[in-house]
Amino acid sequence: MKMPFDTQAFYQASCEHGFVKLADVARNICWETQTEWGSVEITINLSKPEKDPRSIAADDKRAAAGEASYVDPATGFLRACPLCVTEADVGCGYAHRIELGGEPWALWFSPYAYYSEHCIAMTWEHRPMHIDRAAFECLFDAVGLFPGYFFGSNADLPLVGGSILGHDHFQGGGHMFAMQKAPLFRDVKIRGFADVEAGIVKWPMSVIRLVGRDRARLVGAACAVLDAWCVYDDPLVGIDSGVTGGTSRRCRASDGTLVKVHNTITPILRVEDGIFQLDLALRCNITDEQHPLGVFHAHEGLHHIKKENIGLIEVMGLAILPPRVQRTMEERGLSRDDVGALFMQVLECAGVFKWDDAGRAALERFLERLEQ
Ligand SMILES: [Zn+2]
Repeated sequence: MKMPFDTQAFYQASCEHGFVKLADVARNICWETQTEWGSVEITINLSKPEKDPRSIAADDKRAAAGEASYVDPATGFLRACPLCVTEADVGCGYAHRIELGGEPWALWFSPYAYYSEHCIAMTWEHRPMHIDRAAFECLFDAVGLFPGYFFGSNADLPLVGGSILGHDHFQGGGHMFAMQKAPLFRDVKIRGFADVEAGIVKWPMSVIRLVGRDRARLVGAACAVLDAWCVYDDPLVGIDSGVTGGTSRRCRASDGTLVKVHNTITPILRVEDGIFQLDLALRCNITDEQHPLGVFHAHEGLHHIKKENIGLIEVMGLAILPPRVQRTMEERGLSRDDVGALFMQVLECAGVFKWDDAGRAALERFLERLEQ
């Protein structure tokens, strides 16, 4: 009989070998703060440099060109891509081989953990991020392999994805985030999936939550949401999928036949007592002259707090803020609660359906589309 993998022992060994930089992580300044959206967590990251969307794009370009210019902080190995695993990573005990979706993947614990047991799962093959049916299936495989861990994927488009769009990967770990605890604001019906419990999460970003025990039905419902969202336009609130009319009938984002232009999803999955909770944050990376880093991105007036892409960790309510915020707080006399409130404004910027009257009406229009 195959013994279950001892995740705890692997985590302990990763810390003991110094792969997880506990001393660096301990330098981070972390606090929890109450906001109108619930209690959220703030981390001023003193262990890792900030990246803006332009430098992320430059990193991806170097990786695509195969330049081995990245020094892995855990092992000291030189890599073309921060997530390309080698036999040496497995050999030294940094990476652990796993299988997701019938394919070889690996998992290691993040050197710069943002929360307890912060792990990264990556495909063995170097290939781009993709949000589709296969990605949802792999998330379910991942939570099955590591009981007690959530797994999520960054979105697969620039500006709304995290860093490293060029290598397919998930983040996971033993942490429960504010968004995952947030209640539902209203129920949602998804055509063909009346048996799947679905709702809108009361959260600054626009998140559809699917709940149930039946994996296949949840994957089906997630694909239905993805397919509807990736071709959805609403000029009244600035949502522009960039996908021309008619394409939607022939192509589906869930099976990879649709090339996503602006709209995609950040999915996060957890399971407790056999009940899955799959949160789908709707994302749109459209830009305009006023917002060159994204219309649904921290607006300029908030860049003193956050300029980086909003990846899945922040979507869920854990702010990873750059070191400069420490100085900004002193200069502007900002309290820790102030910073929490400003961070939630950043998430409101990233939400495609705002919580004002126009945004709520726009949300209803999209939900009608899901029900059709
Ligand atoms: Zn790679």
